[in-house]
Amino acid sequence: MALGKDYVQQQCSIARALEVVGERWTLLVVRDAFYGVRRYSDFLSHLGAPRAVLAARLQALVDVGVLDRRRYQDAPPRDEYVLTDRGLALWPVLRALGAWGRDELPGTTPMRHFHHIVCGTELATNGECPACGVPVPPADVEMRPGAGLDPDPADPVARALLRPRRLLVPLDPEATP
Ligand SMILES: [Zn+2]
Repeated sequence: MALGKDYVQQQCSIARALEVVGERWTLLVVRDAFYGVRRYSDFLSHLGAPRAVLAARLQALVDVGVLDRRRYQDAPPRDEYVLTDRGLALWPVLRALGAWGRDELPGTTPMRHFHHIVCGTELATNGECPACGVPVPPADVEMRPGAGLDPDPADPVARALLRPRRLLVPLDPEATP
């Protein structure tokens, strides 16, 4: 039996959130947007999702106000996708989900570490800086590569993401050797 498209009998906020981010690939698109990926071609390169699926997920995230679509080039027309405030509010969700995967699923090697850019301390699971005692917004987070990353990926986006970088800063894989 095919799964229904939505959870019609559920009014719970988790069910409502899953209507937005519960489909395959969607949270990975959001994750990459935090890493600075903005262009369709870069999402495609890094995720390896089918083209039509990726286009549908991006459109759905725009429709629900998680991503904002912005024209950055007219000829040929090219758009980029940028997290809105509603999208930025998903940062603690991704943090918690990543920590759960690392701690509860055997054999998961950390791919990335997240540090408070002000003091360099690695963030706690709840997204707070243990040294400063504050919740750290994504713009103040530096991402550093972990042991689980392929050190020599073929994908230029993955290669650009090997370097320590601040979250949300637009990624330009062509500028990365
Ligand atoms: Zn700190």
